[in-house]
Amino acid sequence: MRELARTLPIRLPPLPGEALDSWLEATARRMDTTLGDVLLHCGFPVRQRAGNQFRGIPTDWTIFLDERLTAAVAHASGTAPEAVTAMTLAHYDGRALQMSSGGRAVSRHVLWGRGRGSRFCPDCLRSSGGRWQLSWRLGFSFACTRHRRLLADRCPHCGQVPRQRPRSGRSVPRPELCGNPPIRPGGLISAGCGTDLTHAPTLPLPAGHPVLAAQDRVMEIIETQTAAFVLTGLPRNGHQRCWPTSGPWASVS
Ligand SMILES: [Zn+2]
Ligand SMILES: [Zn+2]
Repeated sequence: MRELARTLPIRLPPLPGEALDSWLEATARRMDTTLGDVLLHCGFPVRQRAGNQFRGIPTDWTIFLDERLTAAVAHASGTAPEAVTAMTLAHYDGRALQMSSGGRAVSRHVLWGRGRGSRFCPDCLRSSGGRWQLSWRLGFSFACTRHRRLLADRCPHCGQVPRQRPRSGRSVPRPELCGNPPIRPGGLISAGCGTDLTHAPTLPLPAGHPVLAAQDRVMEIIETQTAAFVLTGLPRNGHQRCWPTSGPWASVS
């Protein structure tokens, strides 16, 4: 795999806490090339349809990247392999979520795992030029403490959770736009829904709001690898979700 990777002509360091898909898209944008071109540079196997499935290839590299591909991406980008792994959800395995037995998916019913997709802070997307945080993909991420607002859960136009599937590789990515398939027939698939997610409405929170304090505390616990501490005593309803899928924050986002 490593020998298939070619060194990228532009090296863009990942932002702290950035997700792998975001970083690859930002690299493509900086190079003004398609995402598919960057994936080829990094040695990603070309997806070939086998029925309706892409056989043997995970649907989302941000969930899991095997050792050989991690080395290939590291080689192509000049990034340490550990830094590449830290941009995938495997980084949180056993702490904030649990990977499936095959290691290629997130168990939705254990800890704070959410199967696919990502929440987002519209202000963070705007200020970073469309860079997505890995932690937004975790069930415990519900607020941005920097911008004091709840995270958005869905695109305000198509109503779908962003990033449930990889963005099209056929266009130069614009990661601040919704990349879900367009809801109107005849729309360009490669461009996606195209809604500017930096304008998505979410509930603002006053400084000192308990939700912000809770978000800070949960992040602190996860990052210091003491998740077992807070999990003790959580109600075991068969799902062990920390954050409900309905409630005031769900309805505003
Ligand atoms: Zn933010
Ligand atoms: Zn959309």
